[in-house]
Amino acid sequence: MWNLNYSSASEIKKILEENSLAMSKKFGQNFLLSESAREFIVSSLEIESTDTVFEIGPGLGAITALMIKKAKDVYSFEIDNGFCSLLKNKAFRDEENFHLVPGDALKTLFSINVKPSLIAGNLPYNVGSIIIARLIENDVTPRRMVFTLQKEVVERMVAKNKSSSYSSFSILCQMDYEVSLEKVIKSTSFYPSPNVDSAVVVMKKREKVLVPPFMRSFFISFNRAVFLQRRKNIKNNLRTFCSPDFTKEELDELIKKAGLTGSERAEDFSFDELLSLASIFFSRLEK
Ligand code: SAM
Repeated sequence: MWNLNYSSASEIKKILEENSLAMSKKFGQNFLLSESAREFIVSSLEIESTDTVFEIGPGLGAITALMIKKAKDVYSFEIDNGFCSLLKNKAFRDEENFHLVPGDALKTLFSINVKPSLIAGNLPYNVGSIIIARLIENDVTPRRMVFTLQKEVVERMVAKNKSSSYSSFSILCQMDYEVSLEKVIKSTSFYPSPNVDSAVVVMKKREKVLVPPFMRSFFISFNRAVFLQRRKNIKNNLRTFCSPDFTKEELDELIKKAGLTGSERAEDFSFDELLSLASIFFSRLEK
């Protein structure tokens, strides 16, 4: 393993220059300079020696370096060709438990035939929430996931009903996981500094599933549909979702059966309330 000082912006700049590499804004490249924050991410992951960890966006390997010391295997998914070459040929050339998966993680995460027990990453700003949503939608739900994202995105992940940050993404994240904002990381802890602060989110797999497996994919679509247009009430959003399967009268009847008027908005519903509503619609569709 090389001995790059990951806490030093000037050393990072130097290694990039020496290898004729430039940083790319479009890939959301912000290196985490704070050693304590990197250690916090890795300790929050609770790695055991039998674990297979997926890391999204290793960059130059600042977090990877800590994880390969603890895990059985680390698979790092990196889109930047220049970074890939440094990781493979210099940083972790001799580490047998380091596996590089080059390319767009949105594709490669689902194309390799390995199941992770943990997932982590200081996620690229532009696709962080999309990556998390894709993982859950594709039922890639390891024991624990720990990410660094913009603070505002983490606030959406942990939000409860009636809060302005609450959305279908909150429900999706909380479906299989207990989600908590564990630490705020100031923007100055990154190189280059982004405009906003970040936060570490810890996602701990629930011991008991909330959504029965046979209803999982229906619930994911239902959740997306009820939040589709935030300004619209539940009845209007459900009308679009149920069309053309339900008549207007059937829709009214189901809403009444759920004890609702139809004028409620999705953001009013707690997770459990949304799940009971979805169950009523699911039973009708299964008939
Ligand atoms: N882990 C490093 C750190 O903490 O210093 C770098 C994190 S940086 C915020 C995000 C990393 O994700 C960059 O290395 C970037 O090239 C990579 N990246 C961006 N989009 C990606 C994608 N779609 N698939 C895989 N990696 C991506």
